[in-house]
Amino acid sequence: MQKKQDSPDLDKRLDQFDKRLEEMGVRIKDANDLKVREDVFDEITLVSLYKLVHKKWISVIGGSISTGKEANVFYGERNTAGIAIKIYRIRTANFTTMSSYIVGDRRFARVKNSKKELIFAWTRKEFSNLARAREAGISVPEPLVWFRNILVMSFIGEREVPYPQIRNADIGDPEKVYSAILDDIGTLYNKAGLVHGDLSEFNILYGERHYFIDMGQSVTRDHPRAQFFLMRDIKNINRFFKQRCAVREDLEVFYAITGLDTAEP
Ligand code: ADP
Ligand code: MN
Repeated sequence: MQKKQDSPDLDKRLDQFDKRLEEMGVRIKDANDLKVREDVFDEITLVSLYKLVHKKWISVIGGSISTGKEANVFYGERNTAGIAIKIYRIRTANFTTMSSYIVGDRRFARVKNSKKELIFAWTRKEFSNLARAREAGISVPEPLVWFRNILVMSFIGEREVPYPQIRNADIGDPEKVYSAILDDIGTLYNKAGLVHGDLSEFNILYGERHYFIDMGQSVTRDHPRAQFFLMRDIKNINRFFKQRCAVREDLEVFYAITGLDTAEP
C-alpha cells in the first residue's frame, strides 16, 4: 500500500536527486537501476548523500557493486581515488540480528531502541572497527567517513573492479595465505581487541594479498559472545583451507590466539 503510493513520488525524487547532484558537479555512472535505487535511496539516504557530496567526500557515484542482505555497495570516486560507498538499507535491514551484535558492546551502550538509530550506530560501528583493525596493522579498507547509514571507505580493487572474494580468487600459495590470515585473526584479537565475527571466504578479498572486509558485526573482546564468534571464524577459515592445504586443529588455533584452554560456547 505504502509502497504503491510512494513510487511516483520516488521517481520524481530520484530525478531531482540526479539533477541536484549534477548541479553539485557529481557524475553518476550507470546507477540507473531503479530497482536497486528504490530499496536503497530513501529520503534520509538521499539527503545524507548530498551532504557527503557537499562536504567533498564523494565526487563520483558509480555503479552498484553488491546488493547484500543489509547493505548495498557502490563504486565511487573522491577526486581521482576509488572509493566504496556502503549504504545500509534503513527499510530492509535485519534489525533483530543487528541488535544482538550491538547489545553487549560497551562502545554502543547508549544506542536508542529505534531501527534507524540502530542502523546509524551499526554504520558507525563498522567505521570504528575498520579504523581499529587498520591501526593494528591489518589490511582492511581505509574508512574515510561515515554519516548516518553511509560508510565511505577506500576501494579495494583495480580500476573500477573490486578484487574477488577469496573463494573465487587464484591464490598462489594457500599455505602462506592461510597462515597470514590466522596471524591477522590473532592480531585483531590481541592488538585491536576485536573479533571479526563474520569471517569467511565471502568477507576476504584477494588481490596481491588478502584483505578483511565487512566489519559491521565485529565485536570487542569483552562482548559476551566474542569467544564464540572467534571460534566460528576459525572454523570457517579452516573449512575453507582444508581443501587447499594442511590446516591446524580448530581448538589449537583458538588456544594459541586467546591463551585460553577451553572454548566457551
Ligand atoms: P555485505 O554486508 O553486504 O556482505 P560487504 O562489506 O561484505 O557487504 O561487501 C559486499 C561486497 O562489496 C564485497 O564482496 C565486495 O565485492 C564489495 N566491497 C565491499 N567493500 C569494498 C571495498 N572497500 N572495496 C571494494 N569492494 C568492496
Ligand atoms: Mn559480506
